[in-house]
Amino acid sequence: MSMADAPICQECDVQMNPYSGREGDWEVAGYSCDTCGWSDDTDRMWVGEGPEPTPPKLSHAPSAEDLARRFHETYERLAPSFGYKTREASAKPWEEVPLDNRNLMIAVAGEIIEWWTP
Ligand SMILES: [Zn+2]
Repeated sequence: MSMADAPICQECDVQMNPYSGREGDWEVAGYSCDTCGWSDDTDRMWVGEGPEPTPPKLSHAPSAEDLARRFHETYERLAPSFGYKTREASAKPWEEVPLDNRNLMIAVAGEIIEWWTP
């Protein structure tokens, strides 16, 4: 891909710059906006050990708890690579997050799912 193909940032109206880097066990490449920091991955390659992980299949439509849990786990996993330290009480496996905190996240996820469901 040449520079001419670089997309324009919808926020800032400037051409985005190609980048590549490491995100956990993934090699990612794409375009990022120097102005607002928005980035768009176009390429993602598994470089970790073993086979590329596939998302576990659910036997049911994702529930509010599935979404809340997945959000929590992904958020905690990515936080360090963004230099962000999450609160100690919530930086735990899903089952160990305080119940009121979990219930709040499930309620939020439930409203989001409902908002998007036709
Ligand atoms: Zn931008």
